[in-house]
Amino acid sequence: MPDRITDDPQMGSTCLGMRGILWRMTATGGRSIKVTPFRVLALFLALAVALSAIAYPRLEAFFQVQAGAREHDTLRLAVEGLSGALRRYEPLPALIAERPILADALRNRGDTDLLRQVNEELRQTAFRLKASDVYLMDISGLTIAASNYLKELSFVGRSFSYRPYFAQALEGGLGRYFALGTTSGERGYFFAAPVEDGRRIVGVVAVKFTVDAFEEAWRGSDKRVIVSDLNGIVFMSSRPDWHFRALRPLTEGARAEIQVFRQYPLEQVRPLGNRRRSLNDMLDLVAIEEDAGWARYVASSVYIADAGWEVTLLVPTAPARAQAIAGLAILVLALLLTGLGAAFYLQRRTQMMDRLEAQRAARELLEERVIARTADLHHVNAQLLGEVEERKGAEVRLRQMQTELVQAGKLAALGQMSAALSHEFNQPLAAVKSYADNAATFLDRGRTEDARENVHRISQMADRMAAISKHLRNFARRPQERIAPVSLVPVVQDAVALMQSRFKAVNAHLDLDLPQTDIRVMGGHVRLQQVIVNLLTNALDAMEGQPAPRIVVAIAETPRGWCLTVRDHGAGIGEIALARMFDPFFTTKTPGKGLGLGLSISYNIVKDFGGYLSARNHPDGGAVFQVDLQSGAAAGHDDLPQDTAAE
Ligand code: ADP
Repeated sequence: MPDRITDDPQMGSTCLGMRGILWRMTATGGRSIKVTPFRVLALFLALAVALSAIAYPRLEAFFQVQAGAREHDTLRLAVEGLSGALRRYEPLPALIAERPILADALRNRGDTDLLRQVNEELRQTAFRLKASDVYLMDISGLTIAASNYLKELSFVGRSFSYRPYFAQALEGGLGRYFALGTTSGERGYFFAAPVEDGRRIVGVVAVKFTVDAFEEAWRGSDKRVIVSDLNGIVFMSSRPDWHFRALRPLTEGARAEIQVFRQYPLEQVRPLGNRRRSLNDMLDLVAIEEDAGWARYVASSVYIADAGWEVTLLVPTAPARAQAIAGLAILVLALLLTGLGAAFYLQRRTQMMDRLEAQRAARELLEERVIARTADLHHVNAQLLGEVEERKGAEVRLRQMQTELVQAGKLAALGQMSAALSHEFNQPLAAVKSYADNAATFLDRGRTEDARENVHRISQMADRMAAISKHLRNFARRPQERIAPVSLVPVVQDAVALMQSRFKAVNAHLDLDLPQTDIRVMGGHVRLQQVIVNLLTNALDAMEGQPAPRIVVAIAETPRGWCLTVRDHGAGIGEIALARMFDPFFTTKTPGKGLGLGLSISYNIVKDFGGYLSARNHPDGGAVFQVDLQSGAAAGHDDLPQDTAAE
């Protein structure tokens, strides 16, 4: 960052730049700028740059003013030292001039003893006054006695008529002048006073004091003290190389004056490059051209009117600059840290917003999926409901069809049985005719007892035929019965009775292992009977061709009720039949012999009862069909046999 002694036009352009940024932000404000951490950081960086540009000159000026104010005492001491010396020496020439011996000496110029005495007195006076030189001149300016009369470069014999202080004293006033001693080569301040003899001025006494001691006191620090005269020529300075340097260009008149009064060696009066700008009412900023370049100082000056001197204290600006840089660094650092903090906060906030946004999106997606899945489920549900309805319809149709098929199956069975039935009916009919014929004969012969016996037998025959007829009717009729507790043993007995003629026809033997107690199961008398008839028929079919087919029918108790088994001694159930025998229309029998409906119908009937029909092969050969039925007693229904009640 450059030291800005003069006004820096850059500052103006920085302000314009800031305004430009603000304007753009306002202009785009309506379009909502996305605040990203990077942008915030960039903004704070820009602010830091702007702050540096704006604050640095002010900070530097502040510390410069502080430095100048701090050194105010140093300047005051320097000024007081100088003006104190001036005040001290100012009255001395007049006092010395009052000594009569001086006028005597001027009057008696040839009296060497007197002159020696004056010389010695002046020497002692200079010694006591700590003056550099005290000397006496006649009215022509020639020095007739001097305190340095013993020294090699003595003033005695030299003329100082060209010095302004001499002329001033000769005119009766106080002479004062600052100059480089032409004899001694030492800078000094000269005071002079006239020596009067009566009322007549006969000579001039001058007192010179040198300024080296002041400069000695000012050296040894980085501060500079310079004393310049009315022409701006530095004649005192803590830096010896600045002696006789001109702070501003010399006018021709001034140059001529210096030459005439031999104030300074003109060849040494060279310009001292400097620039000055006001810092405040008291202080200036001064840049002085030095060997290494421009050195910058805070300058404060005091004018000593009596002497026409300007005492200037120069305090280097480097510490103030360092302080300003440190202060600015702290400010910028604080700003950048704030920016970093803001960026960090924003980033965290952005991350959190992103996370929330992602969660929201995920939730929305989930909700969409749920809605879609629910819609799917609704659709599937509707489809399922439709299918259920369809199945229900199909089931109803199936049941209807089954009922019809049962009927058809029964009719088929009826057809099968008709041959056996005709034999069953024909035999009693033939017996009835025979008993009736015989009864008539017995009545003719008066054997009424025998005739009664025959009539009784005819009645029995009629009962039997009525029973067969009743079974057939039951079998063929479409069942309307409810499912209710049924006595199982009578059902089995009825079925066996129905099958009696077929058993006889093939000489089959039936083992009935029935319990003595009244067993109740859930079902319908007629349909259960139909199942048993069907199983017995299949058993006979399976043993077709055997000379003495044997069937075992047994009832046993199960955990849930009772089971009825029908075992034959046929070839057993083939593997395919075992898997499909309950399917409708599955049959292994030759066409015309089997419809493949018996087991399927039976299976459904048992199922309707809440029971289960299964088949297996017996380990000793033959097939075993098992009808599992629920206990009717546990169901708590009334004990009325259902066959009569239901049909
Ligand atoms: P159908 O008797 O008209 O063939 P079913 O449904 O009663 O119809 O029987 C289906 C099939 O089951 C029979 O064709 C037969 O192959 C088999 N089957 C039924 N009962 C037995 C049995 N006791 N022994 C061996 N196979 C049997």
